[in-house]
Amino acid sequence: MNPSALITGASRGIGKAIAETFAEAGYNLALCCHNSEKELLSLAEELREQHSVQILTFVGDVADYPFVERMAEETLAAFHRIDVLINNAGISYIGLLTDMSLEDWNHIVATNLTSVFSTCRCIVPSMVSAKSGRIINISSVWGNVGASCEVAYSACKGGINAFTKALGKELAPSHITVNAIACGVIDTDMNHCFTEEERLALVEEIPAGRMGTPKEAAQLALSIATGPEYLNGQVLTLDGGWI
Ligand code: NAP
Repeated sequence: MNPSALITGASRGIGKAIAETFAEAGYNLALCCHNSEKELLSLAEELREQHSVQILTFVGDVADYPFVERMAEETLAAFHRIDVLINNAGISYIGLLTDMSLEDWNHIVATNLTSVFSTCRCIVPSMVSAKSGRIINISSVWGNVGASCEVAYSACKGGINAFTKALGKELAPSHITVNAIACGVIDTDMNHCFTEEERLALVEEIPAGRMGTPKEAAQLALSIATGPEYLNGQVLTLDGGWI
């Protein structure tokens, strides 16, 4: 039987690369996105054809608990288990804290942090029954060190880091691991808000001399999913030596 994984935010960027990498490794997948339905359906079709794996797709908001609950239930009904949960969906907010509304704060926390609670709350019971599972949270170096003008985003990612360490301890007796990847600058739509000049200035600060690729984040996610059970509760930084 093929292993299975549920990946949030799989229509673009890092989540799409993770979907491609896991499908190539033979995983049946449940993929979700918020708005890019056409892109998600076309990715699913491509992965089914290329790798003969089963792909389920869901379009909805990870900040909406009933949506997450339905996605988990339908995935478990189809695949009977979820071996790997990858919490990747996320949004950024750039601006001064003093310009941020309470509504914007609640939106970013619900999307980036509460969504991680929701997927885990809905999927962990099945992993505990199976006495196995891997949870991988896509975090950010800003969760480690904080970024000016990204206070809410940094707080969410810092929250994910602490969530990872705490849940890793809670679930280790059930042979479930919880780890996070703290990404540096990965070349996706999320960074397309920067001008060419700003991108060049950013790259100059990175010892590796370039941005990371979504494929590199996906390779690390697959290594964690297939690696030792003794790797648990860790936040692994993937940033080309930047921070
Ligand atoms: P991206 O290219 O902007 O893609 C974001 C993905 O998340 C899309 O599939 C999007 O779906 C989905 N998504 C966003 N809000 C959602 C919601 N409410 N419900 C369901 N799906 C939602 O971003 P990315 O750069 O790949 O980032 C992926 C993760 O890596 C994020 O958690 C981000 O914080 C983290 N990260 C990225 C970088 C970086 O430099 N790129 C650095 C550190 C951490 P739609 O297409 O439907 O909008």
